[in-house]
Amino acid sequence: METWQNASVKNDLYINQHLVKEPPALENATKTIRETNYPQMEVSPAQGKFLYMLAKMRNAKRVLEIGTFYGYSTMWFAKAVPDGGLVVSIEMTEKFVDMAQRNVSSAGLASKVELLHGDAAALLGKLIADKVEPFDFIFIDAHKPSYPQYLSLCMQLAKPGTVICGDNVILDGELANMDNNNPKAASVRAFIEELGVMEGVESTALQTIGVKGYDGFTLSIVGDAPSFRA
Ligand code: MG
Repeated sequence: METWQNASVKNDLYINQHLVKEPPALENATKTIRETNYPQMEVSPAQGKFLYMLAKMRNAKRVLEIGTFYGYSTMWFAKAVPDGGLVVSIEMTEKFVDMAQRNVSSAGLASKVELLHGDAAALLGKLIADKVEPFDFIFIDAHKPSYPQYLSLCMQLAKPGTVICGDNVILDGELANMDNNNPKAASVRAFIEELGVMEGVESTALQTIGVKGYDGFTLSIVGDAPSFRA
């Protein structure tokens, strides 16, 4: 019998073929990035469609994403929001911003996407200071040691009903290994433990397997109890 790791990859390909039906523009963007040496940091096609469906179920009109890479999940979100909706995506690396802009334009989604280049914490601070309209859906998928800081900033850009998803929280299974003092693990645990004690916020996390290996994400809904916006 083959390993569950190999089986999970085959299953993902099968799921993609029958259920995900990845839009060609997204598939092409991934083909192009695979010709480079960048690591596979984007969500898998099945996860991308899952995020798209969550955003649709939430009727999200405004999506905030931290960590654009080449715009893969950005494009899934842009497909989920209605005309007049907006995906604001923040990316630290200028090369990736350019790549994502090209991909978003080729996919015909440019009118629904605003890419912001720079340090995420600084840019989130600017969105808060500018009092932008709160977001319906927030996807945190960037520098893991900054997750706790991103969370407290994102709460100020949320409103009752906002869905917050934090990606890559299982750390190849190391999440609950308390002997692992790697700053990444410590920060992700701080992020999860903070979610767990936030008043008015309901959260869970799911572990995933497949083409991206052993991983997972948190999912939270902001309730209407406290006032998160200063
Ligand atoms: Mg990720």
